[in-house]
Amino acid sequence: MLPGRFERLWASEVRPSTMKQRHSFAWMDLLWVFFLIGLAVLEPHTDVHSYLVLLAIGLLQIFEHRFLEFLPKRGHVYIVLLKIGLGSLLVDHTGGINSSYYLIYFVPVVTAAMYFDIWATLAWTILTCAVYWSFVVWELSEYELTGEGAEELAIRNLFFFLAAIIVNRFVTDSRRQAERYRQLAETLAETNRRLEQAQEEARRSERLAALGQLSGGLAHELRNPLAVIKGSAETLMRKVADSDSVSTELAGYISSEVNRMNALVTRFLDFARPHHLEHREEQIPPLIERSLKAARDRWPDAKVEVEREFAPDLPKIILDVDLIERVFTNLALNAYEAMGREGGTLHVEAVPVTEGRRGVRITFQDSGPGIPAELREQIFNPFFTTKESGVGLGLSIVSKIVDDHRGSIHVTSEPGKGACFQVFLPEGGEAETAA
Ligand code: ADP
Repeated sequence: MLPGRFERLWASEVRPSTMKQRHSFAWMDLLWVFFLIGLAVLEPHTDVHSYLVLLAIGLLQIFEHRFLEFLPKRGHVYIVLLKIGLGSLLVDHTGGINSSYYLIYFVPVVTAAMYFDIWATLAWTILTCAVYWSFVVWELSEYELTGEGAEELAIRNLFFFLAAIIVNRFVTDSRRQAERYRQLAETLAETNRRLEQAQEEARRSERLAALGQLSGGLAHELRNPLAVIKGSAETLMRKVADSDSVSTELAGYISSEVNRMNALVTRFLDFARPHHLEHREEQIPPLIERSLKAARDRWPDAKVEVEREFAPDLPKIILDVDLIERVFTNLALNAYEAMGREGGTLHVEAVPVTEGRRGVRITFQDSGPGIPAELREQIFNPFFTTKESGVGLGLSIVSKIVDDHRGSIHVTSEPGKGACFQVFLPEGGEAETAA
């Protein structure tokens, strides 16, 4: 099955070697044991020591991964050293420089080529050759090294280097390939995340547009009857002013409640009415500063520390100054209110966006209680509020203004770690006057 295959590939190749690798007694290990048995049986000079060494090499190979999990840092060095040592013991027990088991040195050489870079691999191969040559030095008292013998030894050593370079190249290539797959997988995951975010924002815009249309129509229809009720109540008040105190009081209630409803209808219309954008090319930081000042004036005693981080190379954005200032003011006020009496830190950041649509990303990150995941989309709905005296229109208006500028807004929040609102405003001429 494909996912299984992919998982295996991921586990064995894509993850860095420091990560844990699953290791079981697999068919490769079985093959390895068969080859070692073959080695033990075929060589007539092998004695019990050689069998033991062969057994040790087999066990080391089979449990190599466990060993590396146990010693992730220096394990590779010890493994190669152990293999050189065991190989040398085997060569020593099977005839020294004349042993046909000298090929066992391919094991440490190939192992080094798998774990180390090319220079370290060459160094390990030189060490292996030196150990092999030490048998010659050792036996020089008994034998004479002829020119032909030296040539033969040199050829054997060159083959070690050949094997080391080929394996190292293959392993490096496959590591690079795995790294490319890993980066590709990361890019795909990021693209997917952005796509989901864009879909969420598009759904919100549609929802708000529909709600805006509905509430705008309703508010418009309510305005006229409210005006008639208010006018009638005021006339009634004037007429019965001196004669009937109860009626005067009741007419006063009607009038003040109508005023309240009128204010609500005005806010409704404010949310619903298409904004007429006054296009101007502006720098973002001055608008943020004015909004921060408005929030500070509104909450002069708040113990809020404001951190600013404005990139020096911010492009100018074509926008409606009043509306965008309103966006920032709303976000700043919400952050101040969320942090409440205890205060906290409000981090405001503006950075240029150069990938994809160019523009500026503005972040308002507070250290308040944050927003629970299940409310994160609802907070943009009109009249959603968790505040006692809140109206719940702030963020829906913010979202609409940002939509009208062809931008986007989204919120992230880890409970207890504050809320982070990110507004993206596209650069140059993309703002549009809503019809
Ligand atoms: P209001 O401020 O009138 O409640 P908003 O639309 O501005 O209306 O906000 C809606 C809700 O979103 C708030 O009642 C609050 O629950 C939540 N909210 C907004 N900003 C933050 C913030 N920075 N931290 C925590 N909650 C927030």
